[in-house]
Amino acid sequence: MKELINKIVAETVIADKVTSDKVVTDSLQVAHPKKEFFMIYVTFGIYLLTVVIMILYVNFRPGIVSMGDDVRIIKSNQDSLKIGMTSTLLAVQSLTNIVNKQQDIITHSPIGKPLDIQNMKNVVSKFGPRLNSKGEIEYHKAIDVSAPKGSPLYAMASGIVIESQYDDGWGNTVVVDCGNKYSYRISHMDQLIVQKGQEVIQGEQVGTVGNTGHSNGNHADIRVMYKSEGKTVNVDPAIFL
Ligand SMILES: [Zn+2]
Repeated sequence: MKELINKIVAETVIADKVTSDKVVTDSLQVAHPKKEFFMIYVTFGIYLLTVVIMILYVNFRPGIVSMGDDVRIIKSNQDSLKIGMTSTLLAVQSLTNIVNKQQDIITHSPIGKPLDIQNMKNVVSKFGPRLNSKGEIEYHKAIDVSAPKGSPLYAMASGIVIESQYDDGWGNTVVVDCGNKYSYRISHMDQLIVQKGQEVIQGEQVGTVGNTGHSNGNHADIRVMYKSEGKTVNVDPAIFL
C-alpha cells in the first residue's frame, strides 16, 4: 500500500514538473518575444539610415552657384528636415507601441505579490503532495501563506474578477481572469473588497486575510491556473512570485 502511494505521488510530481516546465517555457517566450526585439532593431536601423542620408545630403552637395540656388537649397534643407522629423516620430511611435505591449504582458501575468513582502515569507504549505488532516495524501495545488487577520491581499495580475463570493470550501474567495491563458484564485479571505465583473489592476487590493471556509488559521490559499490545449492546469505560484 505504502509503495503504491509513493508511486502515485512520484508520478504526480513528474506530471506536474512536466506541466510546470512547459508553462515556464511558454512564459519565457511570452516575456521575450524575439520578433518585437527584431522590430526595434529594424526601426532604429531605418531611422539611423535616414538621419545619416539627410546629414550627408545637407553637408556634401554642390555649393551655391547663384541666388536662385540659395533659395532652392533652403527649400531642399526644409524637405530633408521634414523627412527626418517624420521618421523620428514614426520611430518613437513604434517604440512606444512595443513598450506598451510589453507592459501589458507584464501586468497581465500573475507575478505581483498577493501579500506584503514581510507576509510572503510565511509559506506554511507549498505546492505538491501533502498529508491532509485525515492523514491521507492529497495534492496541494496552491501555496498557503499565513498572515494576521485583516492583512491586505492584492491582485497578482490585472484582469476581470470572475468570482467574488463565499464558498463552503474556499470561504471568501476571489478569482481573476487575466485575459490571456492565466487566471488565479485567492481564498479563505476575511473580507472581499472587489465584485464579480469588476476590472482590477495588478497590485490593487482585492480583500483581506481571514480564516473562512475549510481553514485552520488565518492564511491565504493562492493558486494559479493555466489554460493549455483546452485543459486548465494548476501551476506552482512560486514560479512567478
Ligand atoms: Zn491551501
